Amino acid sequence: MGKIKMNVPLVEMDGDEMTRILWKMIKDELLTPFIDLNTEYYDLGLKHRDDTDDQVTVDSAEAIKKYGVGVKCATITPNAARVEEYSLKKMWKSPNGTIRAILDGTVFRAPIIVKGIDPYVPHWKKPITIARHAYGDIYKASEMKVNGKGKAELVFTDDNGKEERVLIHEFDGPGIIQGIHNLDDSIAGFARSCFNFAIDRKEDLWFAAKDTISKTYDHRFKDIFAEIYEKEYKTKFEEIGITYFYTLIDDVVARVIKSEGGFIWACKNYDGDVMSDLLATAFGSLGMMTSVLVSPDGKYEFEAAHGTVQRHYYKYLRGEQTSTNSVATIFAWTGALKKRGELDGNTALVDFSEKLEKATVSTIESGYMTGDLALISKLTDIHKCESLEFIKAIRKNLEAML
Ligand code: NAP
Ligand code: MG
Repeated sequence: MGKIKMNVPLVEMDGDEMTRILWKMIKDELLTPFIDLNTEYYDLGLKHRDDTDDQVTVDSAEAIKKYGVGVKCATITPNAARVEEYSLKKMWKSPNGTIRAILDGTVFRAPIIVKGIDPYVPHWKKPITIARHAYGDIYKASEMKVNGKGKAELVFTDDNGKEERVLIHEFDGPGIIQGIHNLDDSIAGFARSCFNFAIDRKEDLWFAAKDTISKTYDHRFKDIFAEIYEKEYKTKFEEIGITYFYTLIDDVVARVIKSEGGFIWACKNYDGDVMSDLLATAFGSLGMMTSVLVSPDGKYEFEAAHGTVQRHYYKYLRGEQTSTNSVATIFAWTGALKKRGELDGNTALVDFSEKLEKATVSTIESGYMTGDLALISKLTDIHKCESLEFIKAIRKNLEAML
C-alpha cells in the first residue's frame, strides 16, 4: 500500500520538553510510515522562540490563517525560572496567548472517553465539550476599595464629552467596587466560533448566562447569540438536526450533571474557567483532554490540553524510563489531519485519522496504557507501558486495521 498524499500543507508547531520527545515518537511511529506528511514546520521550542525574538510564533499563527489548519505541541510559557534556565533575552509571552490574539479564536476542550476510565458522573457516556469566552469580564476588571461613606457611580464619557451616569451604591461604610466590560465584536466572534464548531461536530450547543439578574450585561450576551443564530445559523442547524439552546447558568449546571453528554457547552469567561477544571477532573485525566482553537472565520489549531510534562522530561534527561501519556497529542494530530482531509476532500486522510484514533482507544481498552491511566483504570488486566512502548503498541493495532 502506498503512502497517503497531502496536497495542502498542515501547519506544524513543535514545542518543548517531554511533549517534544513524544512529538517525534508519534511522527516516526504513527504518521510518517503511512502518510507523505506535508507540513510547514515551525519550531516553537523555547530556544528558537528566543533566537527569533518570538517572531516564529507570529509566523506560525499567520501560516494557520493562510492554510486553515495547524497542530501544536505543548510549549513552555516562560516565568522567571525559565528565563534563567534557558538564558532568555526576555520573558516571552505565552505562545498560546499570542496565537489566540492573532486568530481571535475560542478554545474548545473535550475529553477522550475509553472503557475502564469512568467519569465520576456514571451516566456521562459521551464527551462534553467546553467553550470558554476568553475576553473581558473579571479578567479585565478595574477594582476599588471604598473606605467609608460616599457615592459610587458608573460614568461613561463619549467622544464628544457627553456623560452617562448610573448609580452603583450609596455607601454608609467601607466596601468594594468592581468595573468590568465586554465588546459586542468579541461576543459575536465567540458566538460564531461556537456555532461553527457545533456544525462541525454535529452536536447541540448550550449557552448560559445570568440574564435574569444582569439585565443589561449578561442579557447582551444572550441577545447577540440569538441574533447571530437566527440570521446566520438556524437553517444549517435545522438541516443537520442539531439545536441551539439558551438557559440560565444555574439551570445549565443541573442539566449537565443529569445529561449523557454529547453537546458543546459555551461559557462566559469566568464560568468557563471554573467549569473546564471541573469537567477535566470529572472525566479522569489531563492526558486525555484535547483542545482546539477555532477562529470566527473557521481556522483551526489543534493541541493537547496539558503542558510540557516537565517532571517526566527531567527523568528522561537523566536516562530514566518515562510513562508519559501521548493520547491527547495523538488526537491533536488526528484532529488536524482529519480537518485537513475534510477541507481538501482527501478521504484517505480522514479515514486514516479515524483509524488511528480507534487504534489508540482500543490499545488502552485492551489493557495497554501509560502510568497515569493505569492508576485509575477499572480494567483487571493492565500492562503499564513506557512512553515509546505505548506508541509502538498503538502502531501494532493500527497496522492490523490498515
Ligand atoms: P503539565 O505539563 O500539564 O503537567 C503537570 C502534571 O500533570 C505532570 O507533572 C503529570 O503528573 C501530569 N501530566 C500532565 N500531562 C500528562 C501526560 N501527558 N502524561 C502523564 N502525566 C501528565 O503542567 P506543568 O508541569 O505545570 O507545566 C509544564 C510546562 O508546561 C510549563 O512550562 C507551562 O508553561 C507549560 N504549559 C503549556 C501548555 C500549552 O502549551 N498548552 C499548557 C499548560 C502548561 P505527574 O508528575 O504526577 O506524573
Ligand atoms: Mg481554571
